[in-house]
Amino acid sequence: MNYDVIIIGAGPGGIFSAYELVKEKPELKVAVFEAGHALHKRHCPIDGEKVKSCIGCKSCSIMSGFGGAGAFSDGKYNITNDFGGTLYEYIGKKQALDLMRYVDDINMKYGGEGTKLYSTAGTKFKKECIQHDLHLLDASVRHLGTDINYIVLENLYNDLKDKVEFFFDTPVETVAVSDQGYVVNCKDQTHSCKQCVVSVGRIGSKWMETVCKDLHIPTKSNRVDIGVRVELPAEVFAHLTDELYESKIVYRTEKFEDRVRTFCMNPKGAVVNENTNGIITVNGHSYEDPAKQTENTNFALLVAKHFSEPFKDSNGYGESIARLSNMLGGGVIVQRFGDLIRGRRSTQKRIDEAFITPTLKATPGDLSLVLPKRLMDGIIEMIYALDKVAPGTANDDTLLYGVEVKFYNMEVEVNEKLECKYPGLYIIGDGSGITHSLSHASASGVHVARNIIANQ
Ligand SMILES: Cc1cc2nc3c(=O)[nH]c(=O)nc-3n(C[C@H](O)[C@H](O)[C@H](O)COP(=O)(O)OP(=O)(O)OC[C@H]3O[C@@H](n4cnc5c(N)ncnc54)[C@H](O)[C@@H]3O)c2cc1C
Repeated sequence: MNYDVIIIGAGPGGIFSAYELVKEKPELKVAVFEAGHALHKRHCPIDGEKVKSCIGCKSCSIMSGFGGAGAFSDGKYNITNDFGGTLYEYIGKKQALDLMRYVDDINMKYGGEGTKLYSTAGTKFKKECIQHDLHLLDASVRHLGTDINYIVLENLYNDLKDKVEFFFDTPVETVAVSDQGYVVNCKDQTHSCKQCVVSVGRIGSKWMETVCKDLHIPTKSNRVDIGVRVELPAEVFAHLTDELYESKIVYRTEKFEDRVRTFCMNPKGAVVNENTNGIITVNGHSYEDPAKQTENTNFALLVAKHFSEPFKDSNGYGESIARLSNMLGGGVIVQRFGDLIRGRRSTQKRIDEAFITPTLKATPGDLSLVLPKRLMDGIIEMIYALDKVAPGTANDDTLLYGVEVKFYNMEVEVNEKLECKYPGLYIIGDGSGITHSLSHASASGVHVARNIIANQ
């Protein structure tokens, strides 16, 4: 079949490309190829009872399918150039923010209305943080919550399904350059298009590498973030989370001058397992619905590592640390901060006697056997620094889950239109290594759609 535009991947990048294309030019023939399932068919079999760990489904319902990696996420759309990607380096800061606000308006129209937009503007915490050598990054945060995020995706799909041709459970195997544009090959079908948008996210990173290699598209290695997820009573951070919801705080350690940062804060949320290519790491969720909220708040503390020469495989480094934790704990390890400081492992008895109930069933153990000393020292230093703005953070009972790893794709060489060296071949979202978040990935989708329309 011949299309004007083929989009590979139905995550936020792909969805917002499709949305903008058919909104502005309904006559365009657009197809979306997605390796994973339709939204209503996405179910992870891990239920904590019958199925306790990853069984390696052919298509991972957490990372793949309509909605992409963010479908069951907390749905935090951070409107900022300070984190979440470097889209602004390609399209300018103002345009990047305008696009993120545009995406926010669409999310509100499709079911997000009534959700809260938090902001760091004018907050007193900025000064309080600086006084303790902590740096609060600027952002507006739309918190949809896992439940509303799903509804928004459902509504977007219902609107798009009659205007765009969706092919689910159809991974694209190769993309080839032709005289008329591009040829997209799947297992038993071949399609062609004039322009092609590749938006394959984190899960498509290996495939993206192959495409870049085959088509000689230049790339460079990206970083990996490694650390732990902290869980404590919600009261400890309530003064910050009530006002800001998500506070991104950066600390430069005294010992090594490494940067440690908070990431993905979930007030009254739950710690969850995450499965990346069969490796179990940790993450966090929270809900808008008060009935689903817990008494704890969780957030990650991460240290960025970037390798260049002779070792370039930053993601491989992160993976092997995560594998080590899986080897020792059979999955995620949990440790009380007090046990870590005293140089002893946590046991089930010590966890049971703590004044906090863990929201994730993890194996009590010793994270100092997993994380390199330099990273562990930085995390401990930051916990003491945070204790000054949120007293109670360095409590003995504070729980640390490990490991949390944020993998990034290698960065693909593209121009200001997010078009690679082949005219009409766009590489966007997390698969391009340029974005690492819902808002940046979605904004990149709108940006390429507008460029495609301008090129018609
Ligand atoms: C558990 C979790 C929670 C998160 N929470 C947040 C949050 O609260 N806020 C935030 O900003 N970010 C969050 N993120 C990150 C966010 O989800 C991503 O940044 C975002 O989804 C990236 O969008 P994308 O469209 O670039 O890629 P993705 O969402 O990864 O979508 C890519 C899609 O492409 C498909 N695909 C891959 N290869 C192929 C192929 N060869 N052929 C066809 N299809 C293919 C995949 O199946 C996938 O569905 C979270 C991520 C996870 C995993």
